Amino acid sequence: MNFYEHTSTSCAQCAVGCGIVAGGGAEHAPKVSGDPEHPANLGRLCSKGAAPRDTLGLEGRLLYPEVAGNQVGWGHALGLVARNFAGAVRDYGPGAVAIYMSGTCLTEDFYVAAKLMKGFIGSANLTANPAACLSAAAEAQAAAFGEDIVPGCFDDIEEAGLVVLVGADVETDAPVLHDRIRAARAAQPGRRFVAIGAPATGADLHLALTPGSEGLLFAGLLVHLAETGALDTDFIENHTSGFEATLLAARRAAPGLDAVASGCGLAPVDVERFYRWFAETDRTVSLYGTGLEATPGAKGSISAILNCHLATGRIGLPGRGPLPLPSQVNAMGGREAAGLTGGLVAHLRAGESADEKLLQDFWQSPTIASGRGPKARDLFRAVADGRIRALWVIGADPVANMPKGRTIADALKRCDFLAVSGCHAGSATAAHADVLLPSLAWGEKDGTVTTAERRINRQRAFLPAPGEARADWWQLAGVARAMGFADAFGFNGAAQIFREHAALSGYRNDGERAFDISGLADLSNADYDALRPLQWPVRYRGSEGSKRLLGDGTYYHADLCARFIATTPSGPARCEDEEFPLVLNTGRVQESTSVFGVAATARTAPVATVDISPADAAAHGVREDDMVRLESPHGHMVARVCILRTQEEGTLSVSMNTGGTFADQARVDALVPAVLDLAAALPRQAPVRLSACEPRAGRRPAPARAETAA
Ligand code: SF4
Repeated sequence: MNFYEHTSTSCAQCAVGCGIVAGGGAEHAPKVSGDPEHPANLGRLCSKGAAPRDTLGLEGRLLYPEVAGNQVGWGHALGLVARNFAGAVRDYGPGAVAIYMSGTCLTEDFYVAAKLMKGFIGSANLTANPAACLSAAAEAQAAAFGEDIVPGCFDDIEEAGLVVLVGADVETDAPVLHDRIRAARAAQPGRRFVAIGAPATGADLHLALTPGSEGLLFAGLLVHLAETGALDTDFIENHTSGFEATLLAARRAAPGLDAVASGCGLAPVDVERFYRWFAETDRTVSLYGTGLEATPGAKGSISAILNCHLATGRIGLPGRGPLPLPSQVNAMGGREAAGLTGGLVAHLRAGESADEKLLQDFWQSPTIASGRGPKARDLFRAVADGRIRALWVIGADPVANMPKGRTIADALKRCDFLAVSGCHAGSATAAHADVLLPSLAWGEKDGTVTTAERRINRQRAFLPAPGEARADWWQLAGVARAMGFADAFGFNGAAQIFREHAALSGYRNDGERAFDISGLADLSNADYDALRPLQWPVRYRGSEGSKRLLGDGTYYHADLCARFIATTPSGPARCEDEEFPLVLNTGRVQESTSVFGVAATARTAPVATVDISPADAAAHGVREDDMVRLESPHGHMVARVCILRTQEEGTLSVSMNTGGTFADQARVDALVPAVLDLAAALPRQAPVRLSACEPRAGRRPAPARAETAA
């Protein structure tokens, strides 16, 4: 293994996107260190970022294109994809083809996929798994601000007097951010930090509320702010609309502190303390994560948080504002380039005819997709019922990582043609592929990602591409050329794609769209190679970008005002059912499909683990490491017990993406209902019962009959 020396790149294992200096070292023992000049981490690295060797090995790598298990040349493989896509379009129309991507694909990959699908094939069927962990936040932000905008940045953590984590397990998912929060808290007496939902070491207050009651908690907070004179009435009057109706709805939902406490399963004294701290601390940051996205009514809950920030004028100013934290490094970059179904590219809106015309004009394309595409679950339903006949999965393993993986596998078996681009041939999805296309892994990729704070990071290769592995954008452009679109897809490198994407962001954009990086449209290849991390918008050449947005009170609705969104909290999932007395919450382990390759995902969590409180463990007579059977009205699974004192009594947590690849009974999606939040894309909760498996841990559990509802 040859390492390039001292390459500045960025960690791809979470949406913090820490800077890394990589290169040098012996085979299988790469040297990496935190980049002291990267603003996200200033030299820090967590254990995941500091030990990336699992992301770099060649074990199990797909090194050559394969058709029916046989090595073929790239021309043959790409031609096969092109012929099958063209054939499906000819016979059934553009809606018969689809591309499904991963949040660890580069922005350049997303851009080329969007250009091919939306502008040249004319299909809206492009989506990515970022939609599964961020769509509720993106929709809530667009509804409030007029565009899917993250106003703040990580530096607000050090500027804030109060940091509120809502469903954000930063200690596990984004350890460097957790370090920053704790360091800021320790540096200045009086600073506080509150963890709502997931616990966090060092929190001054942990509100272990009943999952799904977050919207109620923040509706009650809005009422409290109004009743204690903590509103910014000038800001509300001059920069927002819809406040009165929203406050009225909040009063109906949360008539008093005791009602809120009861509804959330919290002590009134804790709710009162949180409300008081929020009201009295002007500099407040609310950081919400995938744990909140994983609750019923997530979009409404996020709107309720945004309402509280708007009501106090705490948006886009130092130490003040909402800050969503997705799980995947390029979740935001994917949304910038059509990875979310409601978007076209460059924050143009699908379904808006003026935006669609603008895009077609820019691309000079023969067609343009009209309307929103399907969400991930709907895309696979369309595969199952034959509306989608040819599918290309890039960098993702939906059979292993999506809910109802078995149903997805059944759908793929019925699909006329499936192409899979990835690092490993042994993934659950690749097993159904007609053609396998070898992709680059993290250390070999060259391009950009956009992290959670709007920061455009360069990912630079510090390893040579193994075998015949190629960039995903290169594969997409090759298929486009083979379909007859050579003039528009003659990209010779990631820099050229980035320049085109940047130019599009500024095309006919006189400030109507916040996403504007046209100041980077003229970068030379050398400039692109040397690009330092910077935050969009970047409207002028030489601009350093913008740390914060919306701080001037100007928003992206037609009236330039923000909108309060009246919400009706859906309420927590309660298990009054005696037969299924526990609430199961699904989460995720570090999702690593495209970073590690799918085989490594299974290595990360070969056996499903269920987190349980000590009291529930004692009540059910189970001990640490016991194997237990979980049953819901929808199916069953087997998992290993992990007793956590932080797990709320009456609830269990199991990761969404453990074990399923290798253990048929370790799929948590067997338990969850197929009833989804309209804005989110993953099922989140289910009533369950738990019983010990016999024999105990250390011996093989008896096989059980599959009972999963289809
Ligand atoms: S916090 Fe996230 S981005 Fe930073 S080193 Fe750890 S895993 Fe990588």
